[in-house]
Amino acid sequence: MAEDLSADDVLEPSPSWTVLMGRGLRKRCPRCGARGLYRGWFHMLERCPACGFKFEREPGFFVGAYLINFAIVEGLLFVLVMAFVVVLANDSRAGIVVPLVIGAVLAVAAPLAFYPYSRTIWSAIDLAATPLELAEIVEAREAVTGEGKGDSKGEGDRGR
Ligand SMILES: [Zn+2]
Repeated sequence: MAEDLSADDVLEPSPSWTVLMGRGLRKRCPRCGARGLYRGWFHMLERCPACGFKFEREPGFFVGAYLINFAIVEGLLFVLVMAFVVVLANDSRAGIVVPLVIGAVLAVAAPLAFYPYSRTIWSAIDLAATPLELAEIVEAREAVTGEGKGDSKGEGDRGR
């Protein structure tokens, strides 16, 4: 553990839910609001380049992101079905083919489109529910400042 840890590092005020969710929705780091967390559309960096926050806080962490993505797609499909019901109510001969095609395209395209957002949103929800532990704060700082190089293996075990 770093010796020069100041009280400010430990007593880091956690941002409000609104701030956290705003950052998540804009594909930014929930901890500091920095952008540039992705290389391309699908490859999320392991840590925030600005504050060193490690996004995958535990193994299987991003299963929650899939849940977010799934919920978004289900929501969109629900809206589509409701729109079709309204159309059908006004015109009983309305065809099913067009809504089916739109639904199929949505079901494939929406998860891809929302993928990076689902991860930052999940990250924000998790950070709101589980504030950073001291060990995570120290690791994040070391990742940014370059301190503690060479002992990145086994990170996460220190300070517990
Ligand atoms: Zn950050």
